[in-house]
Amino acid sequence: MSLETKTRNPVEYFGENVFDDRVMRERLPKETYRALKQCVGEGLPLTAKIAEVVANAMKDWAISKGATHYTHWFQPLNGFTAEKHESFISPIDNGGAIMEFSGKMLIKGESDASSFPSGGLRAVFEARGYTMWDPTSPAFLKEDRAGVTLCIPTAFCAWSGEALDEKTPLLRSVKALNKHALRLCRLFGDHDVKQVHTSVGAEQEYFLIDLDHYRQRKDLVLTGRTLFGAKPSKTQEMSDHYYAGLNEQVAGFMKEIDEALWKMGVSAKTKHNEAAPCQHELAPIFSVENISADQNQLIMETLQRVALKHNLACLLHEKPFEYINGSGKHNNWSITTDNGQNLLEPGDNPYDNAKFVVFLCAVIQAIDKHAGLLRVSAASASNDHRLGGYEAPPAVISICLGEPLSDILKNIACQAEHGEESKRMLDFGVPTMPQMYADSCDRNRTSPFAFTGNKFEFRMLGSSQTISWANTILNTIVAETLDEFATRLEGAEDFDGEIQRIIADVYENHSRVIFNGNGYSQEWMEEAARRGLPNLKNTVEAAKELIRPEVVELFDKYDVYDRQEMAARYDIMLDIYTRRILIEARTMAEMARTQLYPAISRYLTEAAQAVKALGDIGKASRSQQDKLDCLISLLDSMDEDIVLLTDKIGRADGMKKDHEACAAFCAGEILPAMNDLRVVTDRLESMVDSRFWPIPTYSEILFNV
Ligand code: ADP
Ligand code: MG
Repeated sequence: MSLETKTRNPVEYFGENVFDDRVMRERLPKETYRALKQCVGEGLPLTAKIAEVVANAMKDWAISKGATHYTHWFQPLNGFTAEKHESFISPIDNGGAIMEFSGKMLIKGESDASSFPSGGLRAVFEARGYTMWDPTSPAFLKEDRAGVTLCIPTAFCAWSGEALDEKTPLLRSVKALNKHALRLCRLFGDHDVKQVHTSVGAEQEYFLIDLDHYRQRKDLVLTGRTLFGAKPSKTQEMSDHYYAGLNEQVAGFMKEIDEALWKMGVSAKTKHNEAAPCQHELAPIFSVENISADQNQLIMETLQRVALKHNLACLLHEKPFEYINGSGKHNNWSITTDNGQNLLEPGDNPYDNAKFVVFLCAVIQAIDKHAGLLRVSAASASNDHRLGGYEAPPAVISICLGEPLSDILKNIACQAEHGEESKRMLDFGVPTMPQMYADSCDRNRTSPFAFTGNKFEFRMLGSSQTISWANTILNTIVAETLDEFATRLEGAEDFDGEIQRIIADVYENHSRVIFNGNGYSQEWMEEAARRGLPNLKNTVEAAKELIRPEVVELFDKYDVYDRQEMAARYDIMLDIYTRRILIEARTMAEMARTQLYPAISRYLTEAAQAVKALGDIGKASRSQQDKLDCLISLLDSMDEDIVLLTDKIGRADGMKKDHEACAAFCAGEILPAMNDLRVVTDRLESMVDSRFWPIPTYSEILFNV
């Protein structure tokens, strides 16, 4: 490690690869800078003239930092980011070349939309799709072996105008939320606020494993998770990995990650070892939703790219290993104004903070009314393995407000007498320790949607998922409630009385969604069923929410998804679910047939020779013979399970065109068949001489033994 990297102060290079406000102020003519700021601030379209000047400044800046290429960087509906690099090179008459980048190239790119999921919105022969510059998320430079590339965050839509990405609906949902939150702010006499946004901070969990182990396992490479693996002697029962000191390899990786992200303006803040062996977490400081969503994609990309340089593979799959925790992504979310207010900040006395209570009630009503939708926002083939598995929230949506805030809400709703909340001093029993107050409520790790002081933390998201989709849903359902409240208050003769009635109504009709207890317990599952809260167990069940007429109407009304776009999302969700499960099933059958079965057979041959050898000298061993019999019968059942699974894959292939039927078949038939094959194979793994096992085991991958 050079002294230079050791001592370089991050303040000197934070954001140096971002075309941010500082750079624009410096490099753009004053009037262009002002016009651009105004367009972005007020959500107005950009003129071609502004774009031309900005493009030129952006190109000069990028080239001065070594860039040779640019790319429109977007988020199609396959869950990844997409980029097509174009060089700035343009030949000129005398044989040389110039570096060229125009306003047109900045604003609009064209791509083949038919190779990205479109849910039937685009047929193969109608391929045109457009990427369009999103000036609200700054362009940045990516450094890798390709050199330096200028990345321009863009939206992606079809030639016919429908959104084919995650960004566009997110931006539309913020527009809806902004409109109705502003109405409410005005009603509370707040006329200074010009824009309302959400603030989002996404905590990212991931696994790091040895790259050689990773490459030796087809399941990890092709599906992101282990499809086989007997339980190792040690898992996470000692909780000795959580917050443990970092080993040198991981520490070096994390250092490079921090530096790479800081350069790109991502404020990576916390890093630590997580509960499962080889599991880690990174959290940036929150920012505006659109930027947070882009940055989370960038974080995932960077984690995977940098890991390879350290001879590691970064796994973002929600459940790479059985028997230990999977990885999630906590989406911290609040509603904020352009003049610095957090509308979910209770302040010192929530009883006197009607605005806070009304916004809080809007969230409560939205979540209860659309619990199913929030569930869909976290649904995927991979996240299905986590939810409800005593390591992540259950599939039932509830809100944890904490006892003090629940009491406050109840007292206001019922107009009950109340005392002031008193602050409790923490008593450590050691006089030299600093004195401090306890937080007003404890943490609740088991709640899917928890109020954490001045924001909500949505804990169901999976580690590999984009946060855009969940935030789009969250913003839209809250916009609907804010709209309803604003309409009631605008028409009210007695403003304070109407506020009281709104709070009482929310308490009466929606407080069933509030639950402060243990979300992992069986009692809660029973209680939730009594309260009538939906329990959508898997993606196929959850996805049906998207075709409910009220839901389609909701997104259409708030201009977030029109009817076709929503139908497409539903179709894409099932299609991706099916594809992923079928890839897993085929990988599993192939590994079983071509790697594991032959290895077990080889061991069996050796074991049979040993039995024969001892028999030949009149020393037959009972235990050897029993073991051989047991192995043979397990191997035969393994073979039967391979045949059954292969047969089911064939049947699924035959119904692929019907996405609904095929997804249901995958959930109901393929997954159980995969499970059967795994159970018998894992038993065999635990009996076979480890020298014969052809792929790295859980102990090897997780503990290097
Ligand atoms: P914990 O693990 O206790 O939940 P972390 O520090 O790991 O806490 O992550 C908390 C996340 O919440 C960070 O990304 C932080 O920036 C974010 N956050 C804090 N305040 C807000 C807020 N008002 N709105 C949105 N996100 C916030
Ligand atoms: Mg955390």
